[in-house]
Amino acid sequence: MITRSLANVQTDSPRHADTALISVSNEPQTRWQAQLAGAIRDPRELCRRLELDPGWLPGAEMGHTLFEVRVPEAYLSRIRRGDPHDPLLRQVLPLMAEGNTIQGFVQDPLEESGHTPRRGLIHKYHGRVLLIASPTCAVNCRYCFRRHFPYHENSPSRAQWSDTLAYIHDDTSINEVILSGGDPLAASDRQLGWLTERLEAIPHIKRLRIHTRLPVVIPDRIDTELLDWLSATRLQKVMVLHINHANEIDDAVMAACRRLKDIGVTLLNQSVLLREVNDSIETLAELSEQLFEAGVLPYYLHVLDPVAGAAHFDVPDQEARSLVEELRTRLPGFLMPTLVREIPGEASKTPL
Ligand code: SF4
Repeated sequence: MITRSLANVQTDSPRHADTALISVSNEPQTRWQAQLAGAIRDPRELCRRLELDPGWLPGAEMGHTLFEVRVPEAYLSRIRRGDPHDPLLRQVLPLMAEGNTIQGFVQDPLEESGHTPRRGLIHKYHGRVLLIASPTCAVNCRYCFRRHFPYHENSPSRAQWSDTLAYIHDDTSINEVILSGGDPLAASDRQLGWLTERLEAIPHIKRLRIHTRLPVVIPDRIDTELLDWLSATRLQKVMVLHINHANEIDDAVMAACRRLKDIGVTLLNQSVLLREVNDSIETLAELSEQLFEAGVLPYYLHVLDPVAGAAHFDVPDQEARSLVEELRTRLPGFLMPTLVREIPGEASKTPL
């Protein structure tokens, strides 16, 4: 999310195919990389493993042709078998509805293509830039606003990175760099360490923010190697997780969050309000409570970005506002996420 998130570890889809942000790694696979490589990428396999009625298969196969299926085992294990309405399954199962053409739902809903002054760099807001640090994700969320993003045009080679870093160096108004993607933590620790060293050598950069879903879908990603380069940097560290439902937070996710907190990472969460996933007071309240248990503060609750193929997840603004108003009567203020919409051309996210 995204959600909203350096080189890919292994890629084979058209979307994530060829280019790596830094370089393609030839390092031996770690435990998490093996899990990433072993993620389910076949809609038939997904339906079979989850014991879904065969009636779901045609939609899954059609949607897969638009945006490939990708579900790691650690996430699959939290989905109830035989329940097509499981809130985690809803996020990863392609449906026939993805093929519908709906007015207002477009390929680039945030008009990011107009804000890429360098390959792999998006500069929309004052003081911060976003780097497309990986063209791949550990999970493909069906509602992703970058499901049509041209990653092949935005994946610099290591040589091209110097141009991107020079842009950041030359603009002293930038004090924060956001690693996004894809999912930046799909890059290897060697590659992330390489980039972080170069960013911290730029005197006006204070903060490194990482937007990632990997600690949620493959908690083993938070391993010693990652903690080593992250602890070593002088930069302030913020990790913005992407969790939409309390069922996504199991013991392994809790442990991963604890490891990050122990080295001084500020943990925040952004969610997307999604029809039939988290569009109820009880679900949103439980999510905030579980986040806090994990040491994560709710940050944003985004309304859906109108991306083509995801209209069936949409919750109208008025309903979203009502939900949040009622949520405010249930939770202490520090557990309330801010309901926002991202409007192309605006200088910040817009509270609703
Ligand atoms: S597909 Fe990737 S970038 Fe999109 S929301 Fe999911 S984890 Fe984030």
